[in-house]
Amino acid sequence: MAKKQFKAESKRLLELMINSIYTNREIFLRELISNASDATDKRYYNALHEGKSGLNRDELSIELAVDKEARTLTVSDHGCGMTKEELEQNLGTIAKSGSLDFKQNNETAKEDVDIIGQFGVGFYAAFMVAKHVEVTSRSMEGDEAWCWRSDGADGYTVTPAERAECGTAIVLTLKDNTEQDNYDEFLQEYRLRGIVTKYSDYIRYPIRMPVEKS
Ligand code: ADP
Ligand code: MG
Repeated sequence: MAKKQFKAESKRLLELMINSIYTNREIFLRELISNASDATDKRYYNALHEGKSGLNRDELSIELAVDKEARTLTVSDHGCGMTKEELEQNLGTIAKSGSLDFKQNNETAKEDVDIIGQFGVGFYAAFMVAKHVEVTSRSMEGDEAWCWRSDGADGYTVTPAERAECGTAIVLTLKDNTEQDNYDEFLQEYRLRGIVTKYSDYIRYPIRMPVEKS
């Protein structure tokens, strides 16, 4: 299937993320958890608004799961999910250009480093640690699920998928280790817990991490 291309400025940010020399790449998890939390808020308030009962904040957990063999880290939520159009709109474009505008005036990699840490850079931060990203999502507005897949700068595909309930699962296949860079830390439970505690302590949904089955 022909890949769709990212919008020009999305492409720039992606390249920045992929080639980031940034040591603080752990913030990708902060970004994914913050998106999961926003999506869960949307679902929660939508349910309240529609007078639906039965949604309990404690049950709307955000889950982290690791598969050491496949070298994947999955972040999933029971949030509002995305339709096919929303997947293309939201993940094919930079939604919030504030940090990108800032970057355009600061071309050197060194300066980018500080900016990335300070601003929310969003979803594309996943590409600081992942060589492949799959987002399977089902919107609370419909009953179809779709999977958005990308290896980064050369575009993305969106294909039909299966998912029983609304929400989103983001599967990151970690980059290959090199002599300089080792990504295995993001498969370690204690390390992930540490990152969650550091950046995502304020999140008002439970963040769960089942122990990996062996
Ligand atoms: P921001 O969070 O600043 O809007 P992001 O790049 O982090 O920017 O995310 C882009 C958009 O993708 C979000 O605004 C949201 O609409 C959508 N999105 C990302 N992750 C999720 C998710 N887990 N569930 C639903 N929508 C999501
Ligand atoms: Mg975000």
